Amino acid sequence: MLDIAIIGGGPAGLSAGIYCMRGGVLARLYEEMFTGGQIVKTHRVDNYPGFSEGPDGFALGAAFETHAVKLGLNIEYAPILKLTLSDEKKVLTLPSGEVEAKCVILCMGANPRPLGIDRENDFVGSGISYCATCDGAFYRNKTVAVIGGGDTAVSDAIYLSALCKKVYLIHRREQFRASEQLQKTAFSKDNIELVLNSTVEELVGEKQLSALTVKNKLTGEHKTLEVDGAFVAVGIVPRTELVRGQVELLPDGSVKTDEFMQTNIKGVFAAGDIRNTPLRQVITACADGAIAATRAMELC
Ligand code: NAP
Repeated sequence: MLDIAIIGGGPAGLSAGIYCMRGGVLARLYEEMFTGGQIVKTHRVDNYPGFSEGPDGFALGAAFETHAVKLGLNIEYAPILKLTLSDEKKVLTLPSGEVEAKCVILCMGANPRPLGIDRENDFVGSGISYCATCDGAFYRNKTVAVIGGGDTAVSDAIYLSALCKKVYLIHRREQFRASEQLQKTAFSKDNIELVLNSTVEELVGEKQLSALTVKNKLTGEHKTLEVDGAFVAVGIVPRTELVRGQVELLPDGSVKTDEFMQTNIKGVFAAGDIRNTPLRQVITACADGAIAATRAMELC
């Protein structure tokens, strides 16, 4: 039996792994795809202390993994098919069989939220993307739109402005949620055009997206923006499929934890973007992982 099973290899999971290794417990991290989490899609992480040059997210994620593995963390690349969680018993079902653990730390992160309009799915890979750093290069010297007003949307717009001829930044309100610094940088770019108080009403195109119809919420006016691609950055959805019905969730879909990252089930913790955190950043995910691991080790 494992002392601690960590599920998910982003900053929260890898930080939990580092703390577990230093604590000398028998822990294993399960990751279905690749480590690093959402930051591997970030071209520049500007607010992680100690890295004033803003490393790319891929490099930062790789450094977290190297650190954890160097301390002895065993990472198993396999999907968890089922999780059975109770105060008394925690069982992970993998393709290779079942594994029991005294404690589980849920670090599955979050997925991008879809815009939720007609034909969105049809255009994924044919003009609609949820990852500017993954797909931006396909739109070199072309015209694109970014939809959203948070850190992701504004940093995506900045990244794309260096590659693309023109970037429309479409936001449903006047004020952005993104940090002041990101806003300042974005607003200084000549090829970023703000389309404010506007929602995307229609995706236009046969097989490939060719335009967006947007509606100005204040004037009611519709206009068509010709674009080669659109990057959707309207928030995230916590990845809780495995624990729904077992672990208590909040109305926004995140896992409810206390200040020790403890969920409603004894010995089950949640850390990072999957939980009810007031700030979803690399630094807070790392901190969550450290707190969860430290508390879990006290139960082992
Ligand atoms: P977010 O902060 O939740 O922002 C989502 C944005 O999308 C909001 O501006 C929201 O508008 C808009 N939106 C939501 N649903 C919409 C819809 N159906 N149609 C149109 N617009 C919609 O999400 P995020 O930017 O992905 O950031 C997620 C977390 O990661 C945040 O905590 C963020 O700080 C963090 N993050 C940090 C960095 C960094 O530090 N470098 C980079 C990326 C992300 P309203 O404002 O009107 O609600």
